[in-house]
Amino acid sequence: MQIPLSRPDISQAEREAVQAVLMTPNLSLGPKVPEFEQAFRDYLGVKYAVAVNSGTSAMHLVMRAMGIGRGDEVIVPSFTFIASANCIMFDGGRPVFVDVDPDTWNIDPAKIEAAITPRTKALLPVDVFGQPADMDPIRRIADKHGLRVFEDSCEALGATYKGRKAGTLGDAGVFGFYPNKQITTGEGGMIVTNDEAIYKLASSMRNQGREGMGWLGHARLGYNYRLSDINCALGIAQMGRLEEILANRRNVAEMYVARLKGHPRFRLQKILPDCRISWFVMVIRLNDDYTPAQRDQIIENLRKQGIGASNYFPPVHLQPFYVEELGCKRGMLPVCEALSDRTIALPFHGHLTESEVDRVCEALFSLL
Ligand SMILES: *Cc1c(COP(=O)(O)O)cnc(C)c1O
Repeated sequence: MQIPLSRPDISQAEREAVQAVLMTPNLSLGPKVPEFEQAFRDYLGVKYAVAVNSGTSAMHLVMRAMGIGRGDEVIVPSFTFIASANCIMFDGGRPVFVDVDPDTWNIDPAKIEAAITPRTKALLPVDVFGQPADMDPIRRIADKHGLRVFEDSCEALGATYKGRKAGTLGDAGVFGFYPNKQITTGEGGMIVTNDEAIYKLASSMRNQGREGMGWLGHARLGYNYRLSDINCALGIAQMGRLEEILANRRNVAEMYVARLKGHPRFRLQKILPDCRISWFVMVIRLNDDYTPAQRDQIIENLRKQGIGASNYFPPVHLQPFYVEELGCKRGMLPVCEALSDRTIALPFHGHLTESEVDRVCEALFSLL
């Protein structure tokens, strides 16, 4: 029997919500879009939310709305999904990678200031694996240097930092709804902000640059990054079940942590006492004496037994495009590289059973 790496949590409510949209003519630009946005505004307590067709699109629009373009630098971790850095590159900006904390796996605030130059425009912390980045020192640095803060919360819906919700900690935040995220719309993303200018620009640019000049009036360069009403209906139903979905994931995470913690051959992500993680994945980091090849072999062996496993995340700065375009090299970010070489993501979703968790852990332990 296969145990997949992840699985979306879809109930009858979601199927009925999608069906209901299909009974109407409003498949796009209909009422489900503002309703989905309203669900985010209510949940996060933010003024504005803009639904778009992917987390990556959401990130691109925030970069554009913040006016980040050719020659501008944005500080970002390399231990993240590729989109966190790609969104800076789309309009000619330059990601400046800063190393991560060896325990929390999030951007290390103590290393940010050394990377700031006269061209730096923004800090782009990522809430890696559902744990908010350490935002208070990040905000202090941003304020001192006059920089924007853009929070990539694509993995962190439902997480909190000192009681404040992930996604609301910077000038703008984004979420993604690919099927491996806490909630899914198939594909989709959301921009959240209290900044009216970001809101206005992002909503115009998601819809071909339209702004009060009718269907064929285009106030600025825009895109078709719209999210359909079908996707939004799915998202609304998922938001209606959010607490249940998050609680199921937490329950499975606790089963895993009870079995995995304190193991002599690997460690888990450290959760800061001020943070409440929203469980996104279950990742272990092997001890330093493991080579990357040994790690890959363990992943391969797990897969052979029908157990989904992966190497979240390979460093962004060592992806071919970044090596070619920016001249990035191994050795630039030693903490990130040592971590990336030794991570294993285990199967994780809210409906794993205790016996499946046992099977994964026993298979893992027998390979160490
Ligand atoms: C999922 C994710 C995104 C956005 O991905 P999409 O597939 O475009 O929705 C961005 N950043 C991080 C860290 C992610 O995990």
